[in-house]
Amino acid sequence: MKRLLLMLVVLGGILTPNAEAAYRDIIQEKLVFYYVDNPGATLPSPTLMEVDKRTIARGGNLTTPLWTNADNAGLKDLLKALLKDPARGGDANLQRTVANVIGISGKKVHVYLYHDTGNLTKDTSMLVYCTNSGAYGAANSNASWPCASMYEPHPVFTGLIGIGAHFFSSGSRGGYSTTSEKRMVFVHELVHTQTAYQIENGLADDKKYGTDESHSVREMIPSKNSAFNEGIANAFGFRYHRVNSFNITGVFNSNGNLWVEDDAACSSASTFCLQDRLSGASVAEQTPCLANHKCYAIRDVPVDIILHNELITSNLLYQVMNQFDNNALLVEAVQRASTEMGTVGNYTFMPVFKELTKGCKAYINPSNPTGAKTKGMYMPLAALDFYTGYKVNSKATLARILGTTWGATDTNIDAYFSSHRATLMGYRTNATTWDEAAQLGRLATHLNIRTATTPTATIATED
Ligand SMILES: [Zn+2]
Repeated sequence: MKRLLLMLVVLGGILTPNAEAAYRDIIQEKLVFYYVDNPGATLPSPTLMEVDKRTIARGGNLTTPLWTNADNAGLKDLLKALLKDPARGGDANLQRTVANVIGISGKKVHVYLYHDTGNLTKDTSMLVYCTNSGAYGAANSNASWPCASMYEPHPVFTGLIGIGAHFFSSGSRGGYSTTSEKRMVFVHELVHTQTAYQIENGLADDKKYGTDESHSVREMIPSKNSAFNEGIANAFGFRYHRVNSFNITGVFNSNGNLWVEDDAACSSASTFCLQDRLSGASVAEQTPCLANHKCYAIRDVPVDIILHNELITSNLLYQVMNQFDNNALLVEAVQRASTEMGTVGNYTFMPVFKELTKGCKAYINPSNPTGAKTKGMYMPLAALDFYTGYKVNSKATLARILGTTWGATDTNIDAYFSSHRATLMGYRTNATTWDEAAQLGRLATHLNIRTATTPTATIATED
């Protein structure tokens, strides 16, 4: 007995470092880094580009320009953060999140690291080197803007990321300033290598963001699928670091504006013409507004149109993971939904939301000593209701905005509308207050997802 107990103590003591080492093993196996010293010349062969991860992980130094050229200091820091033991400069939170995201496909990812400082014109052989559709390229010497892509189905590799030394150097880059914010962007791009994305039928790819081909975080864009695709990438990114400018709760509290691009050619019957849909729903325009756009107070925007903004899906998916303190729920939901997400004509949020709800129903709270079942399946719906402005008020509304009915074989969510919704709304101090912790956090305790108190040990301590 004594020997067994001693062994348990030892195992318990090393559990966390073991888990952290496992995350690093996944990263070392699945991320293949290529360093491109001159993106203006023909892409070298893979063997010449591949970065020696094992030496970095061991704390050694490389002899290539990636390590010796001071321009690449930010890229070096990223590699150390991903590969090194947290006790020796690794970023444990980044490693955990990245390993979780890689778990969606379980496949390898090519990460192209570009030495993109100085004014250069990328060679036509460059892969996944984006220069940003907005003013970023011109303002930043044609530096690489972080982007990612999926491969056609392949047994070993899922996709590729392009990211540059300029983005990771000090200073604001497209609104991302701190190291944490820039690493959040790396997580965001990694998610794009894992999730299938289909544009809606009838919408050209270069019109998904509107005619200006760019978008901002407060914008409602023509492609709801694209808004969702960005949302799921942000949700995992927020699990590493939640960037302040993505806070939508504050926008609800101040009844601030969301906007759409003002498109004179956009008209009538098209579901992609959001300004017509908003005026058809008698939503008043707000002034002043930024040039070439139309602004609308967030609380006025109908629930089916607000889902064209990426912050709504970003925050609600993040908040579900946050309330359960569990990334696997969304990882597994995406895995189960991947075929439907890759099917042309589907609204890709719908299958993920359904699978997430099923996963939350099956969740057992490990810190609840009584073992009572949770009512976790109500949390995704509560988060959707909260972040759409408390407008998901019936099962019919839910069916309409998701574009599907909620059958008996799916998780039964009727009780959300008959009782839990009133509980959630009862936590508001008034009808114009949104507070994630006070409302969603309290509901999480009510649903037994979280325990209100620290669990008590039930095993007697013996030597
Ligand atoms: Zn993105």
